[in-house]
Amino acid sequence: MMLLTKKMIEIRTLLNTIGQSDALTLPSIVVIGSQSSGKSSVLEAIVGHEFLPKGSNMVTRRPIELTLVNTPDAKAEYGEFPALKLGKITDFSQIQRTLTDLNLAVPAEQCVTDDPIQLSIYSPNVPDLSLIDLPGYIQVVGKDQPLELKQKISDLCDKYIQPPNVILAISAADVDLANSTALRASRRVDPRGERTIGVITKMDLVDPERGVDILTDRKYPLRLGYVGVVCKIPQQTLFNRGTNVTTAIVKNENAYFTSHPIQFGSESDLQVGTPKLRKKLMTTLEQVMAASLAGTRDAIVQELEEASYEFKVQYNERALSPESYLAESLDAFKHNFKAFQEGFGRPEVRQMLKQVLDQKVLDLLAKRYWNKPIEDLAPPQIEPESLEQLSKATEGNIYWTRKLDASTSELTKLGIGRLATMAVATQLQDQVNQLIDASTFASHPFAQKAIRDASGTILNDRFYSTSDQVENCIKPYKFEIEVDDHEWAKGRQNIHAVLREELKACEAARKQLEDAVGKRKLKDVTAFIERVRKGEVVLGGDTSAGAGGFSVELLERGRQATFLSQRASLLQLRLLAIKSKTCATKSNKYACPEIFLDVVADKLTSTAVLFLNVELLSEFYYNFPRELDLRLGKGLSVDEVERFAGEDGKVRRHLEVVRRKEGLEMVLRKIEGLREMEGRVRKEHGVG
Ligand code: GDP
Repeated sequence: MMLLTKKMIEIRTLLNTIGQSDALTLPSIVVIGSQSSGKSSVLEAIVGHEFLPKGSNMVTRRPIELTLVNTPDAKAEYGEFPALKLGKITDFSQIQRTLTDLNLAVPAEQCVTDDPIQLSIYSPNVPDLSLIDLPGYIQVVGKDQPLELKQKISDLCDKYIQPPNVILAISAADVDLANSTALRASRRVDPRGERTIGVITKMDLVDPERGVDILTDRKYPLRLGYVGVVCKIPQQTLFNRGTNVTTAIVKNENAYFTSHPIQFGSESDLQVGTPKLRKKLMTTLEQVMAASLAGTRDAIVQELEEASYEFKVQYNERALSPESYLAESLDAFKHNFKAFQEGFGRPEVRQMLKQVLDQKVLDLLAKRYWNKPIEDLAPPQIEPESLEQLSKATEGNIYWTRKLDASTSELTKLGIGRLATMAVATQLQDQVNQLIDASTFASHPFAQKAIRDASGTILNDRFYSTSDQVENCIKPYKFEIEVDDHEWAKGRQNIHAVLREELKACEAARKQLEDAVGKRKLKDVTAFIERVRKGEVVLGGDTSAGAGGFSVELLERGRQATFLSQRASLLQLRLLAIKSKTCATKSNKYACPEIFLDVVADKLTSTAVLFLNVELLSEFYYNFPRELDLRLGKGLSVDEVERFAGEDGKVRRHLEVVRRKEGLEMVLRKIEGLREMEGRVRKEHGVG
């Protein structure tokens, strides 16, 4: 039973996937021969299909590493180019076209290259074999071919015919054996003829006597001998693509050899026929594989030691697989998200929203109470005159009543639904982004997109319904707002704090301006602006290049400084007013619009938060981890997980070492098993 070759071929495929080194090359049968010696015909007779590139222009420019895998129970026959990932190809003429394309892709000036094409053929009709087809030797260089081509082909073949490979030296019967390039090359590297099989093709083209002479040649004796074949594919088969070539060839070949029983009959001890050759290839390769077992084992042990050492020193023996890496990263991310979730609940959302509304209240106050309309060139101004009246405003005063009503209405009709939903959604999305940046996903564009898509989808799905719900629920405040004493006191306290913060911000901004411009200069320019404001200086004509000896930029800064000073003093006044007795009671709300608006903002916030919590926050906290699992967990294919892990260079190298180590360990186990099996077989046969 030819089991070893099959197992060794499996091992070789495994080694290929983990990136084998040259030290780990397992033996193959290397096919060499001159052009037109019938090399392709022999290979096709073994495979049973026409699949090799044909044509007068030298078409084999790259070695073809041909792996034949016997699949006894399968009906279908197919080929695969493992490196190209084209899948199973059942049409052998397509394999032929692909091979031709791959060969022709080698630039003409280069002509041959040692970059091999890997092709595996699976069929119940092929033996388990590992063959390497090489470009045929040429006698004369064609006129559009480089002069050194002959040498290049010869060098390429020399590279492959080294031990432990078996050499299949093809020569045609109608060419003098002394002139066979294949035999000459083989003799150079295998002078004692220990690992060469001689194949004599085209036996039908010489007389049977001459044929016998060739097969019994003593000039270059081969331990494995010479096999004579007739591999010409009969014409009718050529037109009948898809039929098994082997059968047709064997029939044709048999007809020839049986018609010369004296020379080639069973009495003669000559080796003839394709089936015999096939058998010989199998047994030879099996023996060579067996002989290479010990060496291969040692090479693998050494590679494994190197991989284990790297694993230990570089990666501290930390086990890792693409799946475990993804799972760990995802767990860590979800864990951090959970931590954020615990710190961002209803109270935090409330606080955040209130701050947003505090700013809106400040803007409203400035617009409706504090600022005068901004005139051209003059600084934005504050209305101190009306402020005095404000402190005396009462319910009976239509002007102040309308002002507060309008301000309240503007606040309630601000579009709180959208504003609040947007604020929370933005906060969540920002947080997700921050968590990504701080996680292992920072180096994984694919995962980042998946996470952002996960949060984006949920937030988008909830956005409109949430903002509508919030808007609906605050509707009553658009018509009437009841305030109780407790709310008033709380509002009074809050807005006082807000205004104090605003005052600090004004002072800090003013200080910053002073530092940037210079105290003196800023004083000069603000004094100038004050005189303009009072009408003591009249600006005439074009001021686009500045005025009063000050540049446009400086004037602008002066305006800002004036505004900030005025706002600061206004804020101080209003702070006093809020603290005053007048503002202690809610009945004086017209004189204390700041407090009233704060109470309104607070009510809006509380209502909004209730719905945001249910409609957006809870939904998000529930769905986000599930979406993550879907997009980054079970939902991913093995390839996607691999691609993901490979995005990070460090992880990729770590994974490679782990994979290599594990692969080598498995190969070693298999080889040990094979050696044991071999040992037993030998014992049974009483060998060694
Ligand atoms: P390659 O260039 O070495 O691959 O040679 P091919 O396999 O393409 O064969 C060259 C030519 O020889 C083709 O026309 C084949 O049909 C023909 N040929 C191959 N083997 C035999 C054979 O055994 N007998 C005869 N008569 N012709 C053969």
